[in-house]
Amino acid sequence: MQVNQNIPDLHYLGIKPHKSIHYQKSIGELVEHAIVAGEGVLSDSGALAADTGKFTGRSPFDRFIVEDDLTKENVWWGKINQAISPENFDKLYDLVTDYLEQKELFVRDAAACADPGHQLNLRAITESAYQSIFVNNMFIRPDEVDPKNQPEWTILAASSYTCSDPAKYGIHNPNFVVLNFSRKIILIAGTGYTGEIKKGIFSVLNFILPHQKKVLSMHCSANTDANNESALYFGLSGTGKTTLSADSERRLVGDDEHGWGDKGIFNFEGGCYAKCVGLDPEKEPEIFNAVKFGALLENINFHPGTRIPDYDNIEKTENTRVAYPIDHIENIAEGSVGGAPKNIFFLTADAFGVLPPVSKLSVTQAMYHFISGYTAKVAGTEVGITEPKAVFSACFGEAFLPLHPSKYAELLREKLQGSHINVWLINTGWIAGPYGVGRRIKLAYTRAIIKAALNGTLKEASYKTHPVFGLEYPTSCPEVPSNVLDPVVMWNNEEAYYAQANQLAQLFVENFKKFEQGVNKDVMNAAPRVVENPVS
Ligand code: ATP
Ligand code: MN
Repeated sequence: MQVNQNIPDLHYLGIKPHKSIHYQKSIGELVEHAIVAGEGVLSDSGALAADTGKFTGRSPFDRFIVEDDLTKENVWWGKINQAISPENFDKLYDLVTDYLEQKELFVRDAAACADPGHQLNLRAITESAYQSIFVNNMFIRPDEVDPKNQPEWTILAASSYTCSDPAKYGIHNPNFVVLNFSRKIILIAGTGYTGEIKKGIFSVLNFILPHQKKVLSMHCSANTDANNESALYFGLSGTGKTTLSADSERRLVGDDEHGWGDKGIFNFEGGCYAKCVGLDPEKEPEIFNAVKFGALLENINFHPGTRIPDYDNIEKTENTRVAYPIDHIENIAEGSVGGAPKNIFFLTADAFGVLPPVSKLSVTQAMYHFISGYTAKVAGTEVGITEPKAVFSACFGEAFLPLHPSKYAELLREKLQGSHINVWLINTGWIAGPYGVGRRIKLAYTRAIIKAALNGTLKEASYKTHPVFGLEYPTSCPEVPSNVLDPVVMWNNEEAYYAQANQLAQLFVENFKKFEQGVNKDVMNAAPRVVENPVS
């Protein structure tokens, strides 16, 4: 990368810095800064290991969107997209910029969207070096940057600034994230969790691309093969997007966020943000080996007396992470783009153990499950609490969608209708009983299922129909024992199984009520049905 040694003049943002500005520094320099400032230390493999502070995850209910002419009629306002007035935004902006002026600042120019036709230039201004490393790793690294260019979007991340009187500005807490589409600014304060930066830009793209450009934006990972036939892996957090898309036999397009336009798919990002809990060199070699110099480990612990990460230690948080540039993975797709998808996987970690490990969906079932966006969360690790909780998040990413889910669903329907795209529902969660009784399906089995779906063998298998969910699921798959494919067999107690299946079906039906008005009747027909006596 060529860097013009000048530093950017930040007056256009109303920032008159009192201290040094570190513009587009090399990763080596940023790592030095981070270590000197006590932000982190080096791991044995050369990654910077930093702690993000009080927040080790996003704070979804402290995230706002400025309500103005641009957004008023278009944003799906509610608990996820909370409105804030332009006046309050301006006040918070002044408070944050006054604060940042007093700090050493790290300024980094980057881009989002690998498709040149949709590329968006951005500048992230942070008060910590580790956050600047994150920005470098996760966004697209331009070949050349010029500090004199004013980027389209600006992210201001004042992680240590806290608002002393939140109610005065229409927010709930001292920490906040605000998106302003008119001023093209993301304001982040009171949290050092880097995921807010990543998901802030993702939310911006989820507004701009479908609304202004008719491009479907998606919370999914993607990879492609030698024939440029792509696969998408949708799913909520922890369902396997990052894990399953890192496949040495396929080229990685991207880890978490993609667009699907006329020419095919493209990554929004330039890096991966992988979960570290239980990271194992045998099961996930690509990710394990990506933890090297340049990578940023977050909130991990070391084995005592060493700098060897203890990935099983989740004392700081269960959400330990590593952010690395996509080229830390060996087999990546050139230009981070891929052809139109041939297979789409909806990943769900069903902790009730109801859904088959794999089912093949019709177009209407695909629409139903896309809009439902189901997964389950295990209740935590407290003794005695074993009841899982169903989570429904529309389009497998409701928390990041400024528009009504039907906008994304309609764009997906246009892509699926009349196409030869296979859509699969994959349960990466529990088999042989619910959480506490059964076990999580082996990663090796899920990988074998995906492989068989991709190479066409799975389509040729014979299928059974699930009496409650109406799903078609195969009775055989190479490298997977047949009984594993059938949840009824695995439970070894038909009555208990169907009671649980009916219970989950009921949760689907309840959740879908809020979408009934907006979807076609055929989609409603793809809903699960509570069946009184499926055993008889
Ligand atoms: P996020 O949106 O938070 O990035 P993600 O969908 O990318 O989440 P992953 O990072 O892939 O989720 O996490 C999946 C986790 O589940 C990994 O830690 C992986 O090792 C574990 N896992 C266990 N069994 C399976 C399985 N059968 N399939 C997929 N992942 C599994
Ligand atoms: Mn991921």
